[in-house]
Amino acid sequence: MRLLKLVRFSSFTSRFVIPVVVCVVAVSVAIAALVLWASREADSVAMERQSRLVRLVVSQLRTTIAHNQESVTVWDDAVLAVQEDRGEEWLDYNVGSWMYDYFGHNGAYVLGPDDKLIFGFATDAGAGEGESSFAAISGQVAPLVERLRQTMRAGDTDDLEDRMLSPGEADLTVVRGHPAVVSVKPFVSDTGNLEQTPGEEFLHVAVRYLDGEFVRELERDYLFEGMRFAWSDNSREGEASLPLLAGSGNIIGYFIWQPYRPGLAMLSKLVPVLLGALGLVLVALSILLTVLHRRSKKLHQSEARMKYLAHHDPLTGLPNRALFNERLDRSFLSRRSREMIAVLYLDLDRFKQVNDTLGHPAGDLLIMEIGNRLRELLRSVDTVARIGGDEFIITLPRLREVKEVEAICERIIEAVRKPFVIHEQQVFASVSIGVALAPQHSSERTELTRKADIALYHAKNHGRNGYAIFCTDMDTIVQERRRIEHDLRKALTRSNEIQVHYQPLYNASDMRITGAEALVRWKHPTKGWIAPNGFIPVAEEAGLIETLGQRVLREVCAAASAWPDQMVAVNISALELRNPSFVRRVLDTLDSYGIEPGRLEVEVTESALSGNADQCEKNVNALREEGIRVVLDDFGTGFSSFSRLQKLEVDRIKIDRCFVSGIGRVAGDEAIVQAIVDLAHAKGLKTTAEGVETEEQGDYLKRIGCDDLQGFLYSRPVTLKQFDGLLGVERPANSSEVSAA
Ligand code: C2E
Ligand code: MG
Ligand code: MG
Repeated sequence: MRLLKLVRFSSFTSRFVIPVVVCVVAVSVAIAALVLWASREADSVAMERQSRLVRLVVSQLRTTIAHNQESVTVWDDAVLAVQEDRGEEWLDYNVGSWMYDYFGHNGAYVLGPDDKLIFGFATDAGAGEGESSFAAISGQVAPLVERLRQTMRAGDTDDLEDRMLSPGEADLTVVRGHPAVVSVKPFVSDTGNLEQTPGEEFLHVAVRYLDGEFVRELERDYLFEGMRFAWSDNSREGEASLPLLAGSGNIIGYFIWQPYRPGLAMLSKLVPVLLGALGLVLVALSILLTVLHRRSKKLHQSEARMKYLAHHDPLTGLPNRALFNERLDRSFLSRRSREMIAVLYLDLDRFKQVNDTLGHPAGDLLIMEIGNRLRELLRSVDTVARIGGDEFIITLPRLREVKEVEAICERIIEAVRKPFVIHEQQVFASVSIGVALAPQHSSERTELTRKADIALYHAKNHGRNGYAIFCTDMDTIVQERRRIEHDLRKALTRSNEIQVHYQPLYNASDMRITGAEALVRWKHPTKGWIAPNGFIPVAEEAGLIETLGQRVLREVCAAASAWPDQMVAVNISALELRNPSFVRRVLDTLDSYGIEPGRLEVEVTESALSGNADQCEKNVNALREEGIRVVLDDFGTGFSSFSRLQKLEVDRIKIDRCFVSGIGRVAGDEAIVQAIVDLAHAKGLKTTAEGVETEEQGDYLKRIGCDDLQGFLYSRPVTLKQFDGLLGVERPANSSEVSAA
């Protein structure tokens, strides 16, 4: 079972769980890779843009410084002022410290046409040290000155950048330990009214440091987080750096900052969302898979249940006929050459009576118990199936000898015979078994089963509680039964074949004939006389019993109509008693022959009266109400018991022949007979002893007070004519003939 669950689970896992999990993992990995790639891309684009921005800001700074300078150098006043040497104060106020105050320049110098310094100012130089501070940068300034004078001399102003009023030269360099922009501009006339020799103009040198305040501006205005300047690239993990290149291509130093990484920012926001979404997907998936798993489990279970029901009997859990057929077919295929297969057809004896007397639930329990006993008895290779109410069928493969089958049959009979306890009552059962063997009887399933059934019929007809192995004669018996049925149908349409004989009944005290029991006989055209036991069961099985019963009753009534006052007893089959119109029919018949109901006795066997046979009981009561007496025939056989006797609503009990014949021979039988008579009398019932054959039996029965006697000792069943003779009745010729129904 556990293995089955495991197999089911693993099939579910391989069909659903693994592909789904693989899909989810693949999609998750793809999404993660895509997100990572996108964030990296976004980061690198952003970094590139930030580097470009730094470069742009630095290059714009150069332009800005140049523009700042032009605001004081492209000015007639300034040209005149430097030419006329208006003094340091003017210079400082207009082109020196003013440049710092207004534009934040860190240094401002004025050079004469001979490149000599005529004014100097530096933010980090002490008072009066402005001029001397120029010495520190003169080396870097000289090439710029040189190039500017050449430009001026050439008068080439085509290369002037947009919105530039005068040529200029600028470079990045290191000034007194600071990275700095150094820009050189000529003092030129803004009106063009002043004459100047090209290349000999006064020059203005501006210095702007790129660390300190500039770095803070960058950080503040352009949001470069952690912006700093370093001489070497000492950027840490996650920091961006941009080299600061001089015009010569030399690296002056590096701007280093914490770059803004939109990808990372996006990632940090996206990851929890993605993880949440993934979690939700996983939860939804696991719910889906659980539902799927449950559904598929349910489906499996109901499939298994349906399969089970299609192959098993719901009451006992044993295989049904379909599964039995399958297994038997399989046994044929796997049968080895010297092996035999036996099919056993089982039928419980008188199971109907158990159902009728104890009720259907008890009958069901008995069937279940029998099923269990059979299961326990058999080998694992055998199959026992329930194929009907009280019918089982067994297949026994791999047998070597017939003896083995016989032994199993005996064991089965023995096991079923042991009492069962049902609803705290001991219940006795017995079983009849028909056996057919493969390959002897057939190697085809239907034929083999049919032959086992024929053998069962045979076993039943030979006293029940036994087994019979099929032989060809049995087939003949079945054929014979079919012939009897056919002939009986014909006989019932004819007037002379079915006859009634009468066995006198004697009053035990004075041996007066009180009446007769009507016993049917069949004068078969070829077989001669057939006793009722040879055709009544056939009539019952073939549905002819009611026609036969009616035929007998009419004949009996016709006969009795000529007798003075003797009663007549008629045997009635349980099947007739089940018909709701039975009583009506009997009364009509009596009436049509003018027979008093009190002269008729109806003999029924106990099975007809047992348990839930409602209609039978109703009919019995109705008969008695009309004055017809009901006799319980064959008392002591079947399910009769003394305790049941108390409950039976009948008028007379007929003690079965088997007890009567035991009188004087079988110990205990006399006591039984005596007990039956005493009990019947105590209940106000009459008793008849049937089958009295010896004087000893007759004497004993008379002694113990039995009311009536019947038996070969006194008279065999005789023809009507003979019985009439016994009564001294003369009947007109043909008066007793009853036309065929
Ligand atoms: P039963 O009703 O118990 O009838 C008594 C049977 O015992 C008769 O057998 C009778 O011939 C036989 N018998 C009577 N005295 C003696 C005796 O001293 N010794 C022996 N050995 N036998 C004796 P029969 O006529 O063969 O009837 C057999 C059974 O067939 C009857 O048993 C009855 O159950 C049934 N039967 C007979 N006639 C009818 C009928 O018209 N309708 C129905 N439904 N059943 C009938
Ligand atoms: Mg009888
Ligand atoms: Mg009898």
